[in-house]
Amino acid sequence: MGRLLRHLKRHLRGLTLLVLTPMLGMTQQPHEHRIVALNLALEERVLFVQMIWSLQDIAGFEHWPPNNDAEQDSFDSGVAVVSDPRSVFSLPPQAKCKIKDVDAEGPMPADDHHEDEDPSSDARPGAHVDVTISYRFRCKAPAELAEIRVHLFRLFPDLQAIRANLITDSAQTFQELTFTEPVLFLPR
Ligand SMILES: [Zn+2]
Repeated sequence: MGRLLRHLKRHLRGLTLLVLTPMLGMTQQPHEHRIVALNLALEERVLFVQMIWSLQDIAGFEHWPPNNDAEQDSFDSGVAVVSDPRSVFSLPPQAKCKIKDVDAEGPMPADDHHEDEDPSSDARPGAHVDVTISYRFRCKAPAELAEIRVHLFRLFPDLQAIRANLITDSAQTFQELTFTEPVLFLPR
């Protein structure tokens, strides 16, 4: 079992398999640069958001490990920015959500390459490399969670779109967020 799957299972414990399947389906696509894939699941009071980035978009290079201190620094600062839920999201205050944990996973080779080819290395030169950031919130009033503003376009000006797959207890939608439309609307 891959690290991402283990990671998802850890986070999705208690959520339904219905949720797990489309979330995994999203991760099987090779990433596109300047595009972030976002998976959101709201089940009862638990809000889970996962974002899959290219290492290029988060750090400005796409190989692992970093070649020098400057690359290491830009990776560290990129991960620090996206790992801070207060910088990344605005949740409606009336939903009374609290962040419970944030998990940064990767860098790991994107799924368009076969991990078995070189098990000793996370990433080969020229390969796509993913970084996955996951956030888990608990909300006292999840019915108030109508929309979530995402600030990533201000933080990462090169970002073109966030392709979001949203699942609640009653519905599922796909939305594409852009600089001018940076709000997730939770389906009901
Ligand atoms: Zn790439």
